[in-house]
Amino acid sequence: MSREPILSADDATPEPPATAAPAISLTGEEDTALRPKRMEDMVGQCEVYERLKIAVDAARIRSEPLGHVLLDGPPGLGKTTFAMCIPNELGVPLQIASGAALAAPKDLLPYLSNAEEGSVLFIDEIHRLPKTVEEFMYPAMEDFRIDITVGEGISARTVNMSLRPFTLIGATTRTGLLSAPLRDRFQVREHLDFYSHEELTEIIRRNARKLKIAIDDEAAKKIARCSRGTPRVANNRLRWVRDYATSRANGEITFAVSQEALSMLSIDILGLDAQDRKYLETIHRVFHGGPVGVEAIAHTLNTATDTLSDEVEPFLLRAELVVRTPRGRRLTAAAYKHLGLDPPDDLPRLLDADEESSQPLF
Ligand code: ADP
Repeated sequence: MSREPILSADDATPEPPATAAPAISLTGEEDTALRPKRMEDMVGQCEVYERLKIAVDAARIRSEPLGHVLLDGPPGLGKTTFAMCIPNELGVPLQIASGAALAAPKDLLPYLSNAEEGSVLFIDEIHRLPKTVEEFMYPAMEDFRIDITVGEGISARTVNMSLRPFTLIGATTRTGLLSAPLRDRFQVREHLDFYSHEELTEIIRRNARKLKIAIDDEAAKKIARCSRGTPRVANNRLRWVRDYATSRANGEITFAVSQEALSMLSIDILGLDAQDRKYLETIHRVFHGGPVGVEAIAHTLNTATDTLSDEVEPFLLRAELVVRTPRGRRLTAAAYKHLGLDPPDDLPRLLDADEESSQPLF
């Protein structure tokens, strides 16, 4: 536990968070309109859904706070949506914070002291919490109490403050970056995976109804196939195709309309966009197919490493266009084929050699 004073004597009584509004930016009004409000309205993630539903039902029946929940997986797969549906199921208030904005223990204090009995505190990007904040959370999560150091120097004293039992829901794209003590304090840990084409088709159909736009089955399937297994991407593609249909067609999304609209975004048959293809082409052209470290690719593309490893790579790895090995990223035969190139003759041997020591995705 950090001994740094987190409060001066004058501000020992924590102020409530400025507003009840989320500290993270939850995209525009439409996104809120498309986001399911109840767990049963969510599509896919069946096993995760079942396990969370059991935990939530049990907590409600016993009138106890739900155990702390950690959700991990690539962006746009429903971590925030689960975190927002769970309090609705439990009928309890929700507070939202972002790991990146909680720079010091005092930033977390208003959330903890305002947490009502059984309520949910959602921390997005929890892997970004600094160590001091993480350590400050341990007793809060385990015993619902915090130790606050008030004042400085010889007048410093530690005040022990009890909290009302609450549930922490943490979301992360990088479980690997969470320290083991923090990870172990979550009773429920779930990994969200990419969605099937059928699940995304269903999400698109439902959201087209919410957006009050007519869409035919073939068009919904086409948009689903081009959505990188990700509901957020599916929603964005749907909105673009809707705009296109309104501007260039008679307002209905037919297969032809969806095809024309998506080709204007340079989205190909696998749903890859220009950035995905640039990533693959760079490994081929500059690094001769790999292996190459993600930092080198990021420098060459003039992109942040985090953007590549959080947003671009997970789907390319999942689609088996790239493999990740201890020596770096390497293109697979499928990637060469997708780029319209012949794979090198010795590719199988190179991949075999790399795969012997390959690492899991997350
Ligand atoms: P994450 O927090 O993992 O980045 P979100 O929960 O914000 O992702 O999801 C992005 C959007 O995708 C949401 O606004 C919602 O409309 C949609 N979405 C996510 N998961 C589902 C789901 N299981 N069913 C229907 N829509 C979903």
